[in-house]
Amino acid sequence: MRRLRNVKIVATLGPASNDYDTIRALFEAGADVFRLNMSHGDHGEIAARHAMIRKIENDVGRPIAILADLQGPKLRVGVFAKGEEDLIVGQDFRLDLDKAEGDNTRVCLPHTEIFAALEPGSSLLVNDGKIRLKVKDCGADFANCEVTVGGTISNRKGVNVPDVVLPLAALSEKDRKDLDFVCDLGVDWLALSFVQRPEDVIEARDLTYGRAAILSKIEKPAAVTNFDAILKVSDGIMVARGDLGVELPVQNVPPIQKRLVRKCRAAAKPVIVATQMLESMIESPMPTRAEVSDVAAAIYEGADAVMLSAESAAGSFPIEAVKTMNAVAIEVESDPTYREVIDASRGGHKETVADAIVSAAREIAETTEIKAICCFTQSGATASLVARERPRVPILAMTHVVGTARRLVLTWGLHCVISAPVDRFKGAVVASTRAAVAEGFATREDLIVVTAGVPFNIPGTTNILRVAPCDERLIFAGDPE
Ligand code: PGA
Ligand code: MN
Repeated sequence: MRRLRNVKIVATLGPASNDYDTIRALFEAGADVFRLNMSHGDHGEIAARHAMIRKIENDVGRPIAILADLQGPKLRVGVFAKGEEDLIVGQDFRLDLDKAEGDNTRVCLPHTEIFAALEPGSSLLVNDGKIRLKVKDCGADFANCEVTVGGTISNRKGVNVPDVVLPLAALSEKDRKDLDFVCDLGVDWLALSFVQRPEDVIEARDLTYGRAAILSKIEKPAAVTNFDAILKVSDGIMVARGDLGVELPVQNVPPIQKRLVRKCRAAAKPVIVATQMLESMIESPMPTRAEVSDVAAAIYEGADAVMLSAESAAGSFPIEAVKTMNAVAIEVESDPTYREVIDASRGGHKETVADAIVSAAREIAETTEIKAICCFTQSGATASLVARERPRVPILAMTHVVGTARRLVLTWGLHCVISAPVDRFKGAVVASTRAAVAEGFATREDLIVVTAGVPFNIPGTTNILRVAPCDERLIFAGDPE
């Protein structure tokens, strides 16, 4: 079973995709990674979905990545006596720490950290930016604001404070409990919401004890400013355009997306482009032309993965949404212009022996009749470097570490194969040629490129490359021993 595209598809699970048959159909339609959103669903529901994905993985015989997305420090207003209030432009509205129910003049904002960080002139965005408040004066427990964009404010709506770096704990109490819960269940990726600084990532990593790779969601202006430092301490990135487009003017999102995707590609770390990719498919079996264009644009940029949120979690057409992404990806990747764009935007410096080996592997594979690049990888580092090259031929990431295979599923172009451990390069060559033929990437008449690090038990030592025939009788013909 192989995909006919390089970009990966992440599908969020939810009420619309909560049973074995639907999740399996999502996988068969093209979903490579399933996202469990910790903002919705209790631990029982999350565990049930997790078990179904692992059963599907077993039944289809292909590794599947599971990404658990922590809610993060999402700020919310309190409740109103009437449940909601209409705010009119120009009126005053007060936020404070008083737990009493709100009315048309005030509501509780139960976060002391916000009041400590606000200044006159700061903006507060309520309900995905639909309502805007400007601070007139403020103190340790209140902010008197003017309504600059009016609308209906209701119980527990989210609040964004884009202009200030909030001294918020990166992980709430709920996040810490969720983190432990999903790490114990066994997830491959842990996504962190509202990351602001590299320390936030390090704090979470310390709690995982190596149980999951860490993906930082870029959805705060501070994360854009501190991006290089955040990328350095993260294993992957999500361009979380939903909150990013609330915290910053929406027109800032596309250039940020382009910049972040390039930096991640250069760093050989996977990047997901997320949110509203096929938004209209929540209700319609047909996407808009603009949505198809948006998915295509992310693929032309060379993003590792594109993501579905409500489209697959709560919409009426989850399977159609995955099929649409799959079809767009196959079409884009067969366009000669795609190749030109990808080749022209190849990033990354050649500094190490490993860089040189993977670059040579790509060049050899592109200049001769080579059908695939097979790389033996333990930590996943070699496979990530091969993927950074964005070669024209398929890449088989061969590993005996199940967790590595699952984690690498998120990365562009990697067809992950769980193999028996090998201790000599010959064994790696034999296993690679067998896998390439068995999984439909080559025939016995073809050649493949095999890369690995020798000795085998030391991660990050890619140092060997061989062009090997898939006909086993020829592999060792003429070898000295
Ligand atoms: P969310 O993150 O769906 O968890 O909000 C993605 C985004 O903000 O784009
Ligand atoms: Mn978000």
